[in-house]
Amino acid sequence: MKVPFYDATREYNFKKTEFDIEISKVLESGAFILGKQVYDFEEAVCRYTGAKYAVGVANGSDALLITSDILEYKNGAEILTPVFTFFASASCIARLQGKPVFCDVDEDTFCIDINDAEKRITEKTKGILPVHLFLQTTDMTTCMELAKKYHLTVLEDAAEAFGMKTKYNGEYIHSGLIGDFGIFSFFPTKTLGGYGDGGMIVTNNEELYKKAKSYRTHGSTKKYHHDYIGYNSRLDTLQAAILNIKLKHIDNAIQKRANHAAQYRELLKNIEEIKLPVIKTDNKEVNYVFCIKAHKRDELDSYLKSNEIGTSIYYPVPLHLQKCFEYLDYKKGDFPVAEKLCDSVLALPMFPELTEDEVSFVCEKIKRFFN
Ligand SMILES: *Cc1c(COP(=O)(O)O)cnc(C)c1O
Repeated sequence: MKVPFYDATREYNFKKTEFDIEISKVLESGAFILGKQVYDFEEAVCRYTGAKYAVGVANGSDALLITSDILEYKNGAEILTPVFTFFASASCIARLQGKPVFCDVDEDTFCIDINDAEKRITEKTKGILPVHLFLQTTDMTTCMELAKKYHLTVLEDAAEAFGMKTKYNGEYIHSGLIGDFGIFSFFPTKTLGGYGDGGMIVTNNEELYKKAKSYRTHGSTKKYHHDYIGYNSRLDTLQAAILNIKLKHIDNAIQKRANHAAQYRELLKNIEEIKLPVIKTDNKEVNYVFCIKAHKRDELDSYLKSNEIGTSIYYPVPLHLQKCFEYLDYKKGDFPVAEKLCDSVLALPMFPELTEDEVSFVCEKIKRFFN
């Protein structure tokens, strides 16, 4: 048996007609840039998440860059961001000449450690960029308390967090909607993934929404009239057509992920050398990635790969040790939790169309490795 880490073709083959009809409609309409499907999808995302406003952009990284620009995370402004995350959560700040101030993460949730973040605040600190990683959101109650105390703006990187909800003021709020801005990525592997790149900015603030909308078309409010120096970054109409279909099936897809996670937990629970994911935040989780912490992680990884099981290491190198961030003057040992995670975390196959037999096979091989 061969178990892919992720396979987009299964879903396409199951729903081929549905996808083909919607893709043809775009091709026949000839409206490729900001076609009707983009606006339909923005509305559908607002309905699903409860956001007041949504702006489709080219990808999640652009969504972070545009919102960082609007919130003025630039020209020396210091922004608190976790050191254990995907590169784009920090490059958006650095690209605008802002200064990413890395913070260690919680060893269970993998999200930013708010106590550690507070210690790093100076008078130049302007914002905080919490990232909701893999399974659960950042604890937004403590995050917002910190933001209020120090007058920080909040940009939620919810690239991986479509469908996740977090308890805030007694209610479960969809990820990305508590801070000033939130962003989603529709990179193919994401919980709501397209057949190419795609991203979205969400906010409940009308003024920020208008700016974001203008920034995606070169900062214009009227054709060829530019109020800002913006970007060329729009969600592609073909991707929007595909995402409209996928959003219709999203609850079912999330449920299937949960079933796989439950099966992994059951079959792996007695292996001492493995730690299963811990849910600590009061939230409604989504199993975007199923990450175990394993002894002899690299050996286990090679063993699974040699048995034709796809795996992934998120993330092998923490951001403070990336070559391009050498100028920030961090060193090994500065972020002990994140560094430990980088050496022990291993992501197992996880996507809705995975089968029960495949999950069993993966678990059997893991057991065999440790025996
Ligand atoms: C995927 C991801 C992004 C970037 O999204 P793209 O659409 O690939 O540009 C940003 N932040 C995090 C945490 C991500 O996982």
